[in-house]
Amino acid sequence: MKVLITGGAGFIGSHLADELLGRGDEVAVLDDLSTGRFENVEHITGDKNFEFVEGTILNGTLVDKLVERCDVVYHLAAAVGVDLIVRKPLESLITNIKGSEMVLDMVHRYHKKVLIASTSEIYGKNVNGPLNEDHDRILGSPLKSRWGYSTAKAVDEMLAYIYWRQKKVPTVIVRLFNTVGPRQTGAYGMVIPRFVKQALKDEDITVYGDGKQSRCFLHVKDTVGSLIKLMDKGAAVGNVFNIGSQEEVSIEGLARKIIDITKSKSKLVYIPYDKAYEEGFEDMRRRVPDTAKARAAIGFKPTIDLEGIIKSVVEYAESS
Ligand code: UDP
Repeated sequence: MKVLITGGAGFIGSHLADELLGRGDEVAVLDDLSTGRFENVEHITGDKNFEFVEGTILNGTLVDKLVERCDVVYHLAAAVGVDLIVRKPLESLITNIKGSEMVLDMVHRYHKKVLIASTSEIYGKNVNGPLNEDHDRILGSPLKSRWGYSTAKAVDEMLAYIYWRQKKVPTVIVRLFNTVGPRQTGAYGMVIPRFVKQALKDEDITVYGDGKQSRCFLHVKDTVGSLIKLMDKGAAVGNVFNIGSQEEVSIEGLARKIIDITKSKSKLVYIPYDKAYEEGFEDMRRRVPDTAKARAAIGFKPTIDLEGIIKSVVEYAESS
């Protein structure tokens, strides 16, 4: 199989490249190294089945050429991370809407199969849990930067779905809940690499809000395995799937767990959202996926628990 991964030098994309090369696929990665890092794929650059192309998904000529040459596309390139979305709202919207439109346009032109990485941000402030794929989206004002990400990804999902319905382009949509593991950077807001770094240096742990908001974290190995299975599954076409863990933890609970595991002397400090992000910032109180649909389709079941996840991030932080 010849595979194109957009955003393949990113945290999830680079793990996906490792896994696909491991099973004998040919992998081309397109990445503009905005949030992705060359170091994430450096170890596979010598592999004869691997090709790295530095460039943006906004470059039509390049995307055209790469899509034409491959059999399937994993579209992972996006501006992600709450901090980045709030700091660079315009660039994020353009990449996430125009970029996906470009990829889908080319996938349509050459009639290739595509898997679109979407997000649990789709559900917005819906605190019902566990959230299934048909649950409502509850969003705040479009003038609040955070909701731009959810909105852009909803446009991507609609485009992908409608390309399938109207033009029979085979598309699969996957909504990723919080994914963690080695190579994830805290630079764009992600909480676990940030807390681990702070804990290892015995610095204050920056808990935003009251710390009672909760999340469920899935190890990237489980995420990537599911993406491959969903891509390979014929019946997944034209469908949307949640992928995430159901092991719920509050953010202050998470901070304490990380302190325990690293035997850190760090203390928790509580920072109001207005200071952490921007005036009027709205967070999700809770985000738990219902993964019954993925379980039925591909037997989805996480294999690494929260403690294992934290330990893998600690190990990576200590070695890099
Ligand atoms: N968070 C925090 N301290 C940090 C970074 C994040 O308390 O230094 C919180 C953040 O406000 C959110 C949760 O941790 O409630 C998860 O944040 P992340 O950006 O990792 O993911 P998302 O908000 O997309 O779930």
